[in-house]
Amino acid sequence: MPAKTVYIETFGCQMNLADTEIVLARLGEAGYGVVTSAEEANLVLYNTCAVRDNAEAKIRGRLGDLKNLKQRRRKAGLDLTIGIMGCMAQREKDHLITTYPQIDLVVGTDQFVHMPQLLQQFEERGRLVATDFGDFEDKLWEAKRGEGVNAWVPIMRGCNYNCTYCVVPFTRGREKSRPAVQIEEECRRLVDDGFVQITLLGQTVDSYGKTLGDGTTLASLLRRLHEIPGLKRLRFVTSHPKDITDELLDTVAELPKVAKHLHVPAQAGSDRILRLMGRRYTRADYLRFVERARARMPNVELLSDFIVGFPRESDADFAETVSLMDEVRFGGSYVFMYSERPNTPSANIADDVPVEVKKARCNHLLDLQLKHQSEAYAKLLGSVQEVLVEGPSKSNQAMLHGRNQGNLNIVLPRTAADGTSRDHLIGHIAPVRLERNTSLTLFGDLA
Ligand code: SF4
Repeated sequence: MPAKTVYIETFGCQMNLADTEIVLARLGEAGYGVVTSAEEANLVLYNTCAVRDNAEAKIRGRLGDLKNLKQRRRKAGLDLTIGIMGCMAQREKDHLITTYPQIDLVVGTDQFVHMPQLLQQFEERGRLVATDFGDFEDKLWEAKRGEGVNAWVPIMRGCNYNCTYCVVPFTRGREKSRPAVQIEEECRRLVDDGFVQITLLGQTVDSYGKTLGDGTTLASLLRRLHEIPGLKRLRFVTSHPKDITDELLDTVAELPKVAKHLHVPAQAGSDRILRLMGRRYTRADYLRFVERARARMPNVELLSDFIVGFPRESDADFAETVSLMDEVRFGGSYVFMYSERPNTPSANIADDVPVEVKKARCNHLLDLQLKHQSEAYAKLLGSVQEVLVEGPSKSNQAMLHGRNQGNLNIVLPRTAADGTSRDHLIGHIAPVRLERNTSLTLFGDLA
């Protein structure tokens, strides 16, 4: 076994994946090689998610396996260091280390950048918990990114909303924006390294800039990044309906490199439930946002998240969510069953929706979403889409896959009719005429 090897498993959202890329770069600087299984590693890290109970349950299950591995190593006279980072680490802090003797380090969402130093401290002083909120944004941290054309860049951390069901304000702290100059520098380096599609990340990415106090907004950042030569597409996720300004919508509509794709979770269609969720907008406000977006960009793809089975959600409340979905016809929706999270305000409201009802509502929305998608895709057949080709399709190596301006997944043959490879299209925008579809994918060929 090499002297220093790390295996890391990442759970949850894109923000966690971005944090993993930073921690791997930090560990690389400290001499660690990355391996692809816990068995090969002498440091195992779990970058955890705390948004839903089942995400945490999965990690607890994995910790059982690691306990056995650690015992086997000990018998063979070898070491295994186990660290937990991410939102579950931030939420549970000391509780994790007292409950699971196999864990050596618990590292919070602002402290993981100091992982090499924390490992050193562990070697010298033993097991530790490092979960203070710090000054994460003050430095441009290197990140160890994978291959491909896509790079994800966190532009802010934390969240100043307090949706009653959400642990993020506890696990990621108050909203903090990174300086635009630093983000631009990172994006320029990424484009130089061949990443032509950049997705800007934030929990409420459309409120970017507020904590900088210099008038910077997401719109002004998009304009700045749009000028980077070689950059082909710019995306941003996730937006809060209250922060989508006309200035931002005008900017997205105007700038050709900015994807016409907005991920703006509605969460529910009933005002009563939105109030209980603490979302700070009404159904009418949300529909006004849809109208404002479509007035500027008739083909904009709107993506939403929904939580079904929130405490006290009646059949009538759920019917309002269904009707919202019918009215807006989203390009995609993530649908989740409500999961009570300890210490959140909604945990004080009795979870009175039976799990079978939650499941039925979840399936209902997922079916409706697929129906809307199939119908929308069918209408696109015959049209030519500007597709940024990302690489070979994961499910079929004979095909290439990419995305259009609206983030729709589009697949085309990897070789031309005369047998020549089309791999040279990877990283470029190609015109693709759509020929057929499933409810999740569009298929076509070069126009
Ligand atoms: S906006 Fe609400 S749901 Fe989103 S991260 Fe903030 S508190 Fe959580």
